[in-house]
Amino acid sequence: MAGPVVSQLFDRADADIVFRSSDNVDFRLHKLILGMASPVFSDMFSLPQPQGEGEQPQVVDVPETASVLENLLPFCYPMARPELLHIDDLQSVLHSTEKYEMTFISNQLLQNLRHFLPTEPLRVYSIACLVEDADLARAAAKVLLGSSPLYDPHNSPPEFDRLRASALAKIDAYRIDCATAARSVVLDYDQLRSGFPPRFVSVSRKGNVDTSNAWIWLACSSCTGGSVEIYVANAATGYRHGQTLTPRAWWSEYSDAVAKELTLRPLASVVTETRFTRPAFDKAAKCATCGPRAAVELMQYAEAVAKKIEDALSKVVFVLPFGQNEVPEEASKPVVAELADRAVEEANQFFAGW
Ligand SMILES: [Zn+2]
Repeated sequence: MAGPVVSQLFDRADADIVFRSSDNVDFRLHKLILGMASPVFSDMFSLPQPQGEGEQPQVVDVPETASVLENLLPFCYPMARPELLHIDDLQSVLHSTEKYEMTFISNQLLQNLRHFLPTEPLRVYSIACLVEDADLARAAAKVLLGSSPLYDPHNSPPEFDRLRASALAKIDAYRIDCATAARSVVLDYDQLRSGFPPRFVSVSRKGNVDTSNAWIWLACSSCTGGSVEIYVANAATGYRHGQTLTPRAWWSEYSDAVAKELTLRPLASVVTETRFTRPAFDKAAKCATCGPRAAVELMQYAEAVAKKIEDALSKVVFVLPFGQNEVPEEASKPVVAELADRAVEEANQFFAGW
């Protein structure tokens, strides 16, 4: 059978089996090597074999293309392994290793798949769900928080042909839960009073509000106030007396924009993004009171809020859409939370290595 030239090791005279690829390329191989690599092949070869023509080894038609076989077989033979720099190549080989139960290769390929997390998180997530790799699915779900929209319906990943709809539903649910958790941190205006030590608002026994240690957007009364009001009180007067502080408009606009973005991309890093902080700095610079302090204090605030969001997100449980790890709603929360914490910790360690 004529065809493209295959690697030298797949074209030896001492071959005792021929794999014919779906695109008609012959790979002259060895039962002993293939049988050691795959229990499926081992079983196949242990069955009584029809004889090849004359002295010729038996020919087996396989569904893989020559390109997939060229990528798959080096994991079985003593030769350099391909790097599989494209996720399509990796996915095809992984699919074959799963089918032929070549677990030692699958595990290595799943590790390689992690390299595609930053660039192809949805495909990594889809493949992880198809092969039911819990750690990889969780790591991808976390990266997918930064994807908005989640996918382009006109150009969806090829894995969607085989993916269960519940895999996408679980991702949506996780993103919604994370958005709720992240937004609740930003929208908790009451924490502006004393939730960011050493910044605080104090109230005297007589009810006089002291903002000398407060964030500048609470202390300033020169520029325009925003739409939010924060109640302040001391133990003697109580909140019902209605003392309020109004954060300045430039800060409220920043806070609103960040909260809106967190609905789409529930990531801690959103609050420090320049496209939100820069307009706030520019507006604050127009106020003689806010101007000199706004940039430094807003960055301090943003970094502190980012930590709080990170903390809130780490408590959100991603429920796997497959396998024994699938957790029904009524399951014990502590166990679920513990599993998620461990996965997030592992994912963090993983991302730290990038
Ligand atoms: Zn001001």
